[in-house]
Amino acid sequence: MTERKRIYLSPPHMGGREMEYIQEAFDTNWIAPLGPHVDAFERECAEAAGVRAALALTSGTAAICLAARSLDVMPGDTFFCSSLTFIASLAPLAQMGGVPVFIDSDPDTWNMSPLALERALRDAEASGRKPKAVILVNLYGQPCDMGRLLPLCQRRGVPVIEDAAESVGSLYGGRATGSFGKFGVYSFNGNKIITTSGGGMLLSDDEESIAKARFRSTQARDEAPWYQHSELGYNFRMSNILAGVGRAQLELLDDRVAKRRDVFARYREALGDLPGVSFMPEAPNSRSNRWLSTLTIDPGVSGTTNLDVIDALAAENIESRPVWKPMHMQPVFADAKYYRHDGDESRRLFETGLCLPSGSNLSQEEQSLVIRLVRGAFR
Ligand SMILES: *Cc1c(COP(=O)(O)O)cnc(C)c1O
Repeated sequence: MTERKRIYLSPPHMGGREMEYIQEAFDTNWIAPLGPHVDAFERECAEAAGVRAALALTSGTAAICLAARSLDVMPGDTFFCSSLTFIASLAPLAQMGGVPVFIDSDPDTWNMSPLALERALRDAEASGRKPKAVILVNLYGQPCDMGRLLPLCQRRGVPVIEDAAESVGSLYGGRATGSFGKFGVYSFNGNKIITTSGGGMLLSDDEESIAKARFRSTQARDEAPWYQHSELGYNFRMSNILAGVGRAQLELLDDRVAKRRDVFARYREALGDLPGVSFMPEAPNSRSNRWLSTLTIDPGVSGTTNLDVIDALAAENIESRPVWKPMHMQPVFADAKYYRHDGDESRRLFETGLCLPSGSNLSQEEQSLVIRLVRGAFR
């Protein structure tokens, strides 16, 4: 008997011209963290996002780090961040000595609550400690409520880092995510909607800031005939081989978004009637790439928990996960300040949330099996 292969949450999906671009890199011997694919990938990403400049990097985390450097985050500076996110959204700022203040989710978007943000900004104003940055995260592909969040920050002159690591290909008001903050961040990690195996992009309309970040991403070398440094930098540039993979993947982005949206639509159709189940909303004025199909299960109504479903799927060699554990519940941030929406929404989402296998290469048969097993866990 042959064993069925494991079904992953969000596996890579190659399929276009990746090998052709890799071959081109080999044929021209551009085997370095610079080269024609890197330049072209930056241009193509900037164009797709509708911003003036982009910088290709080794990871999304590296992009957040360079954004923080650009905003001059110093020890003791506060910054605000959605609590419900992956730690990479803010780890670089915390490592620079920045002090996080966490903001709860809005149930309509699962993203940063404008009500909680406004309260946090008011308190900051009253205490005379303006945050160095607000990090907005577009969770699981769903854009934030930009129409309400951005004016709150703009009015007070607080710069926004838009963590669009999970929302490549998503739109808000018809505009690409990654283009809304002072800086936008994409990730091309292996589990994201398009991938370079590992990689990221820093985006901005401010060409000067991107030029400075580019300088810092290659060890901050002064213009001199020898190696001279007036400040400290990083080694964060993307390989030309991987940029080739990224170019081929970007050509497929529309298709990948359509596939992930189909996967989500089929789950909702097939599971939406189950007691206590609600799918992640798609807020008005936005179009999510549906990177991961996510839902909540109210155990009081259903008698089943998210962890029961995860166990049932795991028994059949299928990967699924709870939603991100909020940052205000993390041991490493035990002392951090937290602003709630009303109840503790991000905690509720964590305690009831579930991410189902969502790959753009998930077959109809595989998805049917997942659906059957999830329904089975409710009996
Ligand atoms: C993946 C991810 C990142 C970091 O991207 P890497 O390329 O893995 O460093 C940042 N923020 C969020 C929300 C992510 O999901």
